[in-house]
Amino acid sequence: MDALSYWEHKHWLSGIDFAIVGSGIVGINCALALREKHPKAKIVIFEKGILPKGASTKNAGFSCFGSVSEMVLDLEKEGEEAVFSLVQKRFKGVALLRKTIGDQAMDYQQLGGHEVFLDRQSSLFENCAQQLSRVNTLLSPIFKGAPFELRPNSFQFKGVLPQYMSSSYEGQIDTGLMMKSLIHKAQEKNILIWNGVPVTHIEANAAKNLLKTPFFECEPATICLATNGFSQQFGIEEVLPARAQVLITKPIKNLAIKGVFHLDEGYYYFRNIDGRVLLGGGRNLDFKGEQTLSFDQTPQIQEALEKLLTDTILPHTPFEIEQRWSGIMGVGSSKQPLVKNIRHQLYAAVRLGGMGVALGAQLGHEMADLCS
Ligand SMILES: Cc1cc2nc3c(=O)[nH]c(=O)nc-3n(C[C@H](O)[C@H](O)[C@H](O)COP(=O)(O)OP(=O)(O)OC[C@H]3O[C@@H](n4cnc5c(N)ncnc54)[C@H](O)[C@@H]3O)c2cc1C
Repeated sequence: MDALSYWEHKHWLSGIDFAIVGSGIVGINCALALREKHPKAKIVIFEKGILPKGASTKNAGFSCFGSVSEMVLDLEKEGEEAVFSLVQKRFKGVALLRKTIGDQAMDYQQLGGHEVFLDRQSSLFENCAQQLSRVNTLLSPIFKGAPFELRPNSFQFKGVLPQYMSSSYEGQIDTGLMMKSLIHKAQEKNILIWNGVPVTHIEANAAKNLLKTPFFECEPATICLATNGFSQQFGIEEVLPARAQVLITKPIKNLAIKGVFHLDEGYYYFRNIDGRVLLGGGRNLDFKGEQTLSFDQTPQIQEALEKLLTDTILPHTPFEIEQRWSGIMGVGSSKQPLVKNIRHQLYAAVRLGGMGVALGAQLGHEMADLCS
C-alpha cells in the first residue's frame, strides 16, 4: 500500500460521514436520500467495478410487481400480509425511482406485462385463474383497481395457452440510462463515487469503524452495505449469490412484441427493446451451478434460451443473437428484502432477488432512514 500524502488524507479520506459499499441502484439511492437529510455530510460510494458490477447495469429492465403464479405461490408460503407488504414495497419503489430521476431519464414506458403459460401448464393456469379474484381483491388498495386480467394470446406465441394473465401497470425501462442518470444525479449532489476500489475488510465496533481497500484505509462514521449478491464477504449469510443469464437479438424488422413477459412461473422473462427481443432466465436448469459470483454464461442455459426464442417466442420470425451476458443477484430463503443494522454504525440493504428495479429506490431510502 503506497503512503498517502497529507493532502490526500486531509481532503479525500478523513472525515467521511457515510461510506456506502456498492454503486448499484440501492447504493446510489441510499446516497441521494442521505444527501437530502445531511446537506453538508461527506458521502463516499466505494465500487469495486469500473462500472457498477453486480446486477443494476445487467438486468432486463422490467418495472414489475410480480406475476399471478408468483403471488399464488407466495400466498401459500407466506400468507396475505407478506404478499401485500412486498407488492406495496415494489409499488412504492417504482414511484420513488420515477420521482427521483423522472421517466425520461430512464425511458420508462408503461407498455404492460403478461404472464404466459406453456401448453403443459394448464393445471397451473387453472389454479391461478381460480385465485385471480382473490389476488385482485388483496392488491386493489395498492393499485386503486384490480391489477390483473385475462387477455388473449395476441402476440402469437407458439405452444402456449390461449390466454395471458396481464397487468397494464407493468412497465419497462432502459436500465443503462437509469443507472447513468442516477450516477449523474449523485455527482451533481457532491457524492463521491470511487470506482475500481473494492472494500476488502470492515471492522465496526464501539471504538471505531475501519474500512480497508487494497489502496488505503479509512474510518467512516457510518458504513452502509449495498452489496446484494456479494454480501457474504461481509458475513451476511442470509443472502446467496444467484447468477442470471440473458441474451439479446439483433434488431428485428416490424417486431410486434411489446411489453414485458413472464414465462414458466417467472423462470424466463422477455421484452422488446430498440426493436430487439431481450430474453433471460433458465436458472432453474442448474440452481447449484448458478449459485456463483462468476459472470460467465453456460451452453446449457444459453441453448435453452435460444430454443425458447425459436420454438415459442419468435416461431415465424428469423433472428440472430447479438450479445449475451450475465449478472449476479442476491437471493435467500425469503423473498422479503433485508434492511438492517448489523452492529454499531454498520447497516445493510440487500436480498432484492429479481425485483431490484422495483425495490431498489425504496430500500436505499429505508437504509438511509435507519442510519440517520
Ligand atoms: C440478468 C438479470 C436480469 C434482471 N432483471 C430484472 C428486471 O427485469 N427487473 C428487476 O426489478 N430486477 C431485475 N434483476 C434484479 C436487479 O437487477 C437487482 O435486484 C438489483 O439490481 C440489485 O441492486 P443492488 O444495488 O442491490 O445490487 P447490485 O446492482 O448488484 O450492486 C451491488 C454493487 O456492489 C458492488 N460491490 C460488491 N462487493 C463490493 C466490495 N467488496 N467493494 C466495493 N463494491 C462492491 C458491486 O460491484 C455492485 O456494483 C435482474 C438481475 C439480473 C442479473
